[in-house]
Amino acid sequence: MEKVKYLIIGNGIAGLSAAKEIRNNDNQGSITMISSEAYHTYYRVRLTEYLSKDFREEELLVNKDSWYEEKNIKVLLNKIVEKIDIDNSKIRLDDGVEIGYEKLLLATGSRPFIPPIAGKFKQGVLALRTLRDLRYIRNYFDKCKNITVIGGGLLGLEAAWSLKRLGKNISIVEFAPYLLPRQLDEELSNKLKEKLEEEGFKIYLSSAAEEILGKDRANGILLNNGKELKTDGILFSVGIRPNVDLIRDTKIEFNKGIIVDKNLRTNIENIYAAGDVVEIDGSVIGLWTSANEQGKVAGANMSGKLLEYTEAKLFTSLLLGDIKLFSVGEIREFDRFFEYKDESKDIHHKLFTTRGKLTGGILFGDTRDMGKLKRSVTEKIDINSYLEDNIQFK
Ligand SMILES: Cc1cc2nc3c(=O)[nH]c(=O)nc-3n(C[C@H](O)[C@H](O)[C@H](O)COP(=O)(O)OP(=O)(O)OC[C@H]3O[C@@H](n4cnc5c(N)ncnc54)[C@H](O)[C@@H]3O)c2cc1C
Repeated sequence: MEKVKYLIIGNGIAGLSAAKEIRNNDNQGSITMISSEAYHTYYRVRLTEYLSKDFREEELLVNKDSWYEEKNIKVLLNKIVEKIDIDNSKIRLDDGVEIGYEKLLLATGSRPFIPPIAGKFKQGVLALRTLRDLRYIRNYFDKCKNITVIGGGLLGLEAAWSLKRLGKNISIVEFAPYLLPRQLDEELSNKLKEKLEEEGFKIYLSSAAEEILGKDRANGILLNNGKELKTDGILFSVGIRPNVDLIRDTKIEFNKGIIVDKNLRTNIENIYAAGDVVEIDGSVIGLWTSANEQGKVAGANMSGKLLEYTEAKLFTSLLLGDIKLFSVGEIREFDRFFEYKDESKDIHHKLFTTRGKLTGGILFGDTRDMGKLKRSVTEKIDINSYLEDNIQFK
């Protein structure tokens, strides 16, 4: 049986950044990365854009093949890790091959969640996670005129926008009473809805899919308010679930995701975890930048350093044609708020404060100040000093 010093399961951005960091610290130790997918690490975040744009797989790759050779990182593609034997520090692949390890990183990512509704296994009920999904979805939707996106969060809206560019009729179904409820207040969310409706989207709020209609192929959706939507294809975008199946029968602790300490170590001494598969303080983050940073921290700790992962201030920026918005920090709980509006330019900015400190903000229409706002919210600066430089809010 082959034995390697560092074994990484998953070659998403968490696995890749770990491999890179390990190689920075240890230029000799053997590194093997295993992926069930057929490609080297690619920009998963760009899949949405390619729903409506032609591409070659190579364009999406983070590094060329030669990078892996130069760094002496071995990658096994199209292989599924089926079992981890913690007591003997080894794993088994789907082809029966076993590989031993000194340190193991679980970077198995997540998959889309499709709620348990009647008809969910019909043809045309789809979700986007991988390049393979992208090829299938493009092909399927090619023949569809009416498409429904279920989930009006960030990814749902981006996907809906991309599909609209293909000339499809797009409906968006959102469970919450307004779009982007985590990033926008009701007023700005309504403004976003109006703008999307002007672009031709049909938006159904406070609605959930109760049943997917159609014989074998989806041809409609029954909503919880009794309304029926006719549709030829459905794209679910309602959240993710960490890929924990592999560790379900092991001693590795997990809840929603794999539980790690601040050094991204699991409860097993030589096993670490990073990225979408991880649960930190009860939540699964599910963001590219966090997965990248966590991979780096885990990789450093696996190769002899001691780094801690501190969660970055989460922010959102959305660009759909001329619709631009940015949101950062806490916009729900605040004691005061300040706003600036320029209706002629369709600009509306809001700042939220708690005990005199800037704790959240939304930029709608003009997002040029997003860097400054993000920094100021992260540092929780005094609102008066922010206003001094941004007199338009007074
Ligand atoms: C369409 C789309 C758009 C997105 N847009 C954004 C965005 O705009 N901004 C943002 O911050 N985030 C975005 N995200 C989320 C972001 O892509 C993820 O947070 C990030 O890619 C997670 O990286 P990861 O390395 O943890 O996991 P993944 O990228 O999921 O990689 C895990 C890999 O492990 C493999 N694997 C799993 N189990 C096994 C096994 N048993 N054996 C072998 N291999 C295995 C999987 O096949 C996969 O290749 C988007 C995601 C999607 C799907």
